[in-house]
Amino acid sequence: MTVVTRFAPSPTGFLHIGGARTALFNYLFARHHGGQYKLRIEDTDQKRSSQEAIDAIKDGLSWLGLEGDGDILMQSSQAARHAQVARDLLAKGHAYYCYCTPDQLVAMRERMKDEGRKTPYDGTWRDRDPATAPAGVDPVIRIKMPRDGGSTTIHDLVQGDVTIENDQLDDFILLRGDGTPTYMLSVVVDDHDMGVTHVIRGDDHLVNAFRQHHLFLAAGWVVPAFAHIPLIHGPDGAKLSKRHGALGVEQYREMGYLPETLKNYLLRLGWSHGDEEIISEEQAIAWFDMDAVGRSPSRMDFQRMQNLNAHYLRQSDPVRLARMIAPALNVSDDADMIERLAAGMPGLTQRASTLPELADAARFYVQRPHFPLENPKAAKLVSGDGPAIAKDFADQVLSTLSPWTTESLHDAMQAYCDAKGLGFGKVAQPIRGAVTGSNASPDLMEVLFVLGRDECLARIAAVPAES
Ligand code: GLU
Repeated sequence: MTVVTRFAPSPTGFLHIGGARTALFNYLFARHHGGQYKLRIEDTDQKRSSQEAIDAIKDGLSWLGLEGDGDILMQSSQAARHAQVARDLLAKGHAYYCYCTPDQLVAMRERMKDEGRKTPYDGTWRDRDPATAPAGVDPVIRIKMPRDGGSTTIHDLVQGDVTIENDQLDDFILLRGDGTPTYMLSVVVDDHDMGVTHVIRGDDHLVNAFRQHHLFLAAGWVVPAFAHIPLIHGPDGAKLSKRHGALGVEQYREMGYLPETLKNYLLRLGWSHGDEEIISEEQAIAWFDMDAVGRSPSRMDFQRMQNLNAHYLRQSDPVRLARMIAPALNVSDDADMIERLAAGMPGLTQRASTLPELADAARFYVQRPHFPLENPKAAKLVSGDGPAIAKDFADQVLSTLSPWTTESLHDAMQAYCDAKGLGFGKVAQPIRGAVTGSNASPDLMEVLFVLGRDECLARIAAVPAES
């Protein structure tokens, strides 16, 4: 059997991080088993769906590298097929017309509740002759759920065996009076038509699985395996909500997280492989399976996400990072600056855990310092005899040093200090202040090397003698 999974978001908003995790689990499960991972947009509720939300979901998935295999199925495009399945079920005696009016249904719900029954619909029209139907009512089509007093068990790959009594399952609507299919019908028909073998989704859909199970059986189709994954909670253990922080994938992107960070983070949220924290996509595909998905809700830990991002920044291709921060530094079209930023990445990535922090740390590479320096600690470096020492070092050493490497720069500075009887910091610090405008920068030799001779000399020459 070829495994086929699907991610089936409803386009009613942005791509939620919980949805992204569901997509990721579907993707990894399919890849692990050499199968397919498909995307279906559940846009049947036209009032709540929007093109903007569809685009946001597609963008978020593509940023994460979780676009589905093959074409995206828009659920609304299948409405006629869904309606046909409802009529087929009717013809086969697995479904029936119900002529209850909305008022009757409201009264029935009250009565069923008062009688302590577990479903809102009493099956009134199940065995009634449609010839007795009232005029002027467009009937709905309802499925016949088992009325045998038995129970239904789902062998969920995450939750284990879950059983409910059949008297909790009501004869739900498949097709509305206006001929439109219900969500429950559309999901089952699409899962069947797409050849889905494993339905992996949030455990808020577990109750639906029992209804869907019977619908698959009524249609004479194979019931897919179900895996209901626990929802994500906030750091305090409460259901994740806005007050905990960002919920949309897009927001994490804007905050400067890398897609590989979010994927690694979401992977570890509810799934584990020993104590492994940093897991590459290849390893994830090799290791992922449902048996290691936990049954209890996982908690967000924003600090952990930040630490992971710091790790992935250091692993990332310097040119890619330089391009990512270039817009914030207004140098997107400046190839030389991008090259300079890329060359500076080894030191810069040690000082940042998000892209905005990285851009801040890198700003001095593209902007010369303005004197006098605002930061008092930095200003102190280029005060007193600092400027004179920096200028002398520039004249005596930097102007002629060859080759220009981090080693030769270091050795030359050490030799200059020894010759002048100066401590290393006495020379290094004014130079740092002069070329970076800051008292905290990446390794000074790396900075000098990346800036190059001309830029270093220009920056040191610009330091006022008294500042
Ligand atoms: N469209 C549903 C949702 O966004 C998911 C349905 C399913 O996975 O079966 O919650």
